[in-house]
Amino acid sequence: MSQSLASVAYIGATILFILSLGGLSNPESSRRGNLYGMIGMTIAVLATVLGPRVTAAGIPWIIGAMLAGGGVGLYAARTVQMTQMPELVALMHSLVGLAAMLVGFATYIDPAVSSQYTGAAKAIHEMEIYAGILIGAVTFSGSVIAFGKLSGKIGGKPLLLPARHWLNLAGLLIVIYFGREFLRAESMSDGMKPLIVMTVIALLFGIHMVMAIGGADMPVVVSMLNSYSGWAAAATGFMLSNDLLIVVGALVGSSGAILSYIMCNAMNRNFISVIAGGFGTGGGTAAAAHSSDGQPAGEVVPVNALETAELLRDAKSVIIVPGYGMAVAQAQHTVNDITRHLRGKGVNVRFGIHPVAGRMPGHMNVLLAEAKVPYDIVMEMDEINEDFPDTDVAMVIGANDIVNPAAQEDPASPIAGMPVLEVWKAKTSIVMKRSMASGYAGVDNPLFYKDNNRMLFGDAKKMLDEVLAALKA
Ligand code: NDP
Repeated sequence: MSQSLASVAYIGATILFILSLGGLSNPESSRRGNLYGMIGMTIAVLATVLGPRVTAAGIPWIIGAMLAGGGVGLYAARTVQMTQMPELVALMHSLVGLAAMLVGFATYIDPAVSSQYTGAAKAIHEMEIYAGILIGAVTFSGSVIAFGKLSGKIGGKPLLLPARHWLNLAGLLIVIYFGREFLRAESMSDGMKPLIVMTVIALLFGIHMVMAIGGADMPVVVSMLNSYSGWAAAATGFMLSNDLLIVVGALVGSSGAILSYIMCNAMNRNFISVIAGGFGTGGGTAAAAHSSDGQPAGEVVPVNALETAELLRDAKSVIIVPGYGMAVAQAQHTVNDITRHLRGKGVNVRFGIHPVAGRMPGHMNVLLAEAKVPYDIVMEMDEINEDFPDTDVAMVIGANDIVNPAAQEDPASPIAGMPVLEVWKAKTSIVMKRSMASGYAGVDNPLFYKDNNRMLFGDAKKMLDEVLAALKA
């Protein structure tokens, strides 16, 4: 394939990637968006493999690598549970970071590449390598730690080293100093030392950055690492002089940054304070749910499936708030069956979706779409929050932090200021979960003790099956 044909193919792939991002912004067009992305990626891979820069001798290597990578990807996609998706995403980000690091080192030590550059072009090329490895290393180690935290292999509590901001600042200064040394190096072996020192510091920085971030801020970190992986890919594009990789990396980098910003707003958190870490230490006083002697401040009112069905049958309006527990129990199909049944009886059923419900952005939307819940009754938190006072029953299915009134009522709570779905304002709220355990952020929930709240204890799928049977009886 000639260079000009490859360039045309790259432009076509770029347009498809932009259309793909546009499609993914809405559940109704997301399938189409995915399709555009897949076609774009196929074109991009073919144009690169068949392009002028790949020699015939390289083809078997590329095919071997694609078969191995594709096989692992296929296996992971088929076996991974919906609830493990965030970990998988974090792991994939780490691979982008690792690739950027390896490409950086390979480009530096490859005499065929380095001999192409002299003078100012050489300095620019080396800056690309230095920045590419730096971003790649931070993305790699940060994503591995995020994977560990999301999968529960590493505790969710933030690790706060003394003088951690000074440590970060010292790391930054060392990286700048060694960057200067790297650019001044006369030979490849001279340049290797500063490059390796910087890589080690960047890896440690990535670990330190994500270790310092508390559980409740993990959603922002996941999307932030998504953004970093984009910039790492763009840096790889610069190192390899591949325009498509630069464009796609910039698309992923900027969309990840915008998503992080939107999520920070949704959680009423300042981006800088998220990155600075320490949120969700559990250091604040526990919410009003507990009195000073550690005993629950009030009684909870348990109900059974029959009583829940009764409450739903008598309601004119119902808002369902799904959370992580619905994903764990895989209860979305039963939720849809109950919704259809109630709507058939003339009940106004809608869904309230918190931006960080579950364990990844859009987690609940994906599950409800899979169960074929109509999109027009699935509302964002801002669209539905003021409707709770006019709602008969708010049914919380395996959600906890996102419906915690302490975020509004207790300034000392670790989640103070996080916007929450105000389910307690409904005439009756029903919380469906297995026990009195806390949610991801590890804080108590005073909602459980409110007078108008009922607790339906048990696995969400099992309990909802019973509720559905009672509704149909
Ligand atoms: P939470 O983690 O706050 O609560 C989920 C609740 O579900 C738990 O209290 C648990 O209680 C219950 N549960 C678990 N399994 C079941 C089951 N089989 N049946 C019934 N209930 C079950 O989830 P939320 O969705 O309310 O909030 C999300 C939290 O996750 C937020 O703190 C958010 O910051 C964080 N997060 C979000 C990410 C995102 O991108 N969306 C990424 C990373 C973290 P019990 O054990 O008693 O059953």
